[in-house]
Amino acid sequence: MAERMKGKVAAITGAASGIGLECARLLAAEGAKVVMIDRAEDRLRALCAGIGPNALPLVVDLLDGPQVSGMLPRILDLAGGLDVFHANAGAYIGGPVAEGDPDAWDRMLNLNINAAFRSVHAVLPHLIAQKSGDILFTSSIAGVVPVVWEPIYTASKFAVQAFVHSTRRQVAPHGVRVGAVLPGPVVTALLDDWPKAKMEEALANGSLMQPIEVAEAVLFMLTRPKGVTIRDLVILPNSVDL
Ligand code: NAD
Repeated sequence: MAERMKGKVAAITGAASGIGLECARLLAAEGAKVVMIDRAEDRLRALCAGIGPNALPLVVDLLDGPQVSGMLPRILDLAGGLDVFHANAGAYIGGPVAEGDPDAWDRMLNLNINAAFRSVHAVLPHLIAQKSGDILFTSSIAGVVPVVWEPIYTASKFAVQAFVHSTRRQVAPHGVRVGAVLPGPVVTALLDDWPKAKMEEALANGSLMQPIEVAEAVLFMLTRPKGVTIRDLVILPNSVDL
């Protein structure tokens, strides 16, 4: 590996599975110290140990407001700094609105929107004070294309995109960059509840991507030269009508 992230500290939420885990592995292999944030404590600790000394576990339940507000000093204690914050954790619910469970929607919206925004609120003062840093979101193709099967999830990612765009312009004068990666369907536990027919269709048309493809896009974004704006990067599946 080229150690393109040497000397950097990256904190990633939802790092004990799927996309967050693959990003953590890649950034650690590229020389970053990676604070892996998740609530799945046992899995998180085992995964960090497997990655090596560059991976540092931080157990946080992102749905717990005070735990999120108190995250920054814990990150700084663990890693000695913070250069990249990747708001990646998210949940997924699809299906017909009329048959949905609004309480389950609330939990998803709280994670995908409120917890992500609260995390950024917690770490942003540090990045602004040091006049540099990158904030990245794992958004989704559903953040720019209203996917018929998943109206509430789509709404959550449209909200993320709105936040990304406004915040990017707000913090740019402080040397802080904000961007989002917007993948199509990725083979992770998130898609466990996908109906069999949808999974078969996505497999048949070659739309499913691997977490490493997203991690490589994230690495590309984070290694843009200083002073260059991070653009949002859509990773288009073969079909967006899933
Ligand atoms: P995943 O289910 O594999 O991983 C999610 C991780 O988040 C898990 O480790 C879980 O423990 C953690 N998490 C959940 N709730 C938490 C909480 N309250 N506090 C702390 N950690 C919590 O999912 P993934 O597919 O890797 O998804 C990551 C992101 O990518 C999400 O924002 C998702 O919306 C987005 N995304 C996923 C896909 C896909 O098809 N998998 C496509 C586009 C975007």
